[in-house]
This record gives sequence, structure tokens and C-alpha cells, in this order.
Amino acid sequence: MFLSPFKLLKKRTLREELASCRVQLTNWEERLQQARTACDVWQREADEASRKTQQVESKFNETLSQYNALKQDYESLQGGPHIRSIIKVSELSKLSLSVLKNIHAQLRQDLEEIEKVLYRETASKCMVCEERNRTVTLNCNHFVLCDTCSSTQNECPYCQTPINLISNI
Ligand SMILES: [Zn+2]
Ligand SMILES: [Zn+2]
Repeated sequence: MFLSPFKLLKKRTLREELASCRVQLTNWEERLQQARTACDVWQREADEASRKTQQVESKFNETLSQYNALKQDYESLQGGPHIRSIIKVSELSKLSLSVLKNIHAQLRQDLEEIEKVLYRETASKCMVCEERNRTVTLNCNHFVLCDTCSSTQNECPYCQTPINLISNI
């Protein structure tokens, strides 16, 4: 069978095109495989990220509820941040040494705070009723009574000098 040069040329061209198409097809298949692999990796990464997000969310919720519980505890302590809540004496031995030391230090600090307030209040309240502020200086020069109590007392509660001269401040 005789093929004209033109037909021969065409046949060769077609064969070349076919070969080139096959190469391209192989290239595409490779790329498709790469894309699939990449997709799998992304999927795994996405799953991992979603798992981590859930972990973070649950950790956050846990922390939030702990925070709220602490806040409630704090607000229930009307004395402020340094006044401790009561711990049952029977439960003290169950606490660790470091916790006990911590409580001890905190209580000492609380006691100092209470003593300061007690001292200040004692110094300003009437020695008899311990309710109203001191307002009267007695003839012995002691400033220890409120107006009401100074009219019912016969002597200074501090030095027992009979009250005979009262001057209001
Ligand atoms: Zn009084
Ligand atoms: Zn006095």
C-alpha cells in the first residue's frame, strides 16, 4: 500500500499528537493523584484542627465554670478578698501541708486586718455602750464617752475620776 507523502506526514503528525496526548494524560493523572494526596492531608489536618478546637472549647468552658464558681465564692465573702471562708476543723487533717501553711499565712494576714479595724473602732467608740462614737471630753481629760452615756455615768470608765465637769466637743 502506497501512502502519499502528505498522508504519511499526516499519519506521523497524528501519532505524535497521540503520544503527546498520552504524556499529557499521564501528567494529569499524576497531578490528580497529587491533588488527592494533598486533599487527604488537608482532610486529616482539618479533622485534627476541629478536634483541637473542640478540646480548646471544652477547656475554655471548664475554665469559665471554675471562674464563675470562684467569683461566687469571692462575692459570698463579704469581708473582702482577705477574709477566708470557714473550713471544718475535722477536714483540716485531710489537707496537704502546703495548703495548711497557705491557710495559716492567710489567717494570720486576716487576723492582722481584723486587729487593725478592731483597734481603730475600739479607739473611736464609747467605752460604755461600744456603739456610738466618743463625743465628750470629761474633766479628767479623757475622751472615752458618747453624749448619751456621759449623762448616765458618775465616773470616768477609764480612770474612775468622778464626773463633775463635762464639756461637749
Ligand atoms: Zn455610750
Ligand atoms: Zn478619766
